[in-house]
Amino acid sequence: MHTVVIIGSGPAGLTAAIYAARANLSPLLIEGWQAGGQLTTTTEVENYPGFAKGIMGPELMKEMRAQAERFGTAFKTGDVTSVDLKTRPFQIVVDGEETLKTKTLIIATGASPITLGLSNEKRLWGHGVSSCATCDGFFFRGKELVVVGGGDSAMEEATFLTKFANKVSIVHRRDKLRASKIMQDRAMQNEKITFVWNSVVEDVLGQDVVSGARIRNVVTGTVWDLPCAGFFLAIGHRPNTALFAGQLKMNQAGYLITTHGTTTDVPGVFAAGDVQDSHYRQAITAAGTGCMAAIDAERFLETSSHG
Ligand code: NAP
Repeated sequence: MHTVVIIGSGPAGLTAAIYAARANLSPLLIEGWQAGGQLTTTTEVENYPGFAKGIMGPELMKEMRAQAERFGTAFKTGDVTSVDLKTRPFQIVVDGEETLKTKTLIIATGASPITLGLSNEKRLWGHGVSSCATCDGFFFRGKELVVVGGGDSAMEEATFLTKFANKVSIVHRRDKLRASKIMQDRAMQNEKITFVWNSVVEDVLGQDVVSGARIRNVVTGTVWDLPCAGFFLAIGHRPNTALFAGQLKMNQAGYLITTHGTTTDVPGVFAAGDVQDSHYRQAITAAGTGCMAAIDAERFLETSSHG
């Protein structure tokens, strides 16, 4: 029987682990097969306080994990396949095999990249289609690439990809970007970046590897093929909450609803990070709510009959 189980190993989960471990709650953190959360797929993090010169995302996560381990967090690698929050203690099944029991649960499962839902996008995933410039940019030295989206992620990915690519086309469905001014300016000033406005992707082209993208201008209706060797998606994220459907309150987009800090509608279950935050979605806000979740769990254990 565990006192605190944390699902998720991004900044929210690891910060919850650091605080819970330092409160002598001996937390168990379940990290999925792709551990470390979204920061492991990013490059330079310039806005995480304490790193005046910036730090690489994967390096930041490695440090956070080491810090959680130092204070006695136990780690289990595996995917949580189901949870039962209607019984006490709560039950958590890992990889369909092992059932864990816990008095409190901190959910920090984050959010995953959204795809366009094209069949060729799925077929060519890993063969030129990617949602991670950091992971795959290196493979496209001297090539032409497409990035889809108009937010900060699209600007960041495109800018990063120009380190390798000869040309990066940002395909955006409107004529105005959603990205912050500073990220827009950075992309617009980059000579290797071209904008394809008012356009959507009709298909990803290529037999074994990506060779292009079929583009439709939504104003003129013109359809044309844009050659590219890599196709990067940067159109937002979806919260990883399918496990909790019917058991925890969610908003329309599927984000967990929390009140009074990180409290969900099931006492003893707390949620931190992007899984409950569609607005700020920053590493530092995720870490902040991870800290809150650990403190909320500690108080719950002190005051509730379930503790
Ligand atoms: P986002 O802000 O939600 O932007 C998604 C973009 O993709 C939008 O431009 C949207 O178009 C477009 N889009 C969505 N669905 C689409 C579809 N089906 N087809 C074509 N285009 C589609 O997502 P994000 O860029 O991933 O950023 C998420 C959050 O993280 C934001 O708060 C952002 O500020 C933050 N972030 C910060 C940094 C940084 O500061 N270093 C880096 C990355 C992300 P519309 O504009 O038309 O809706």
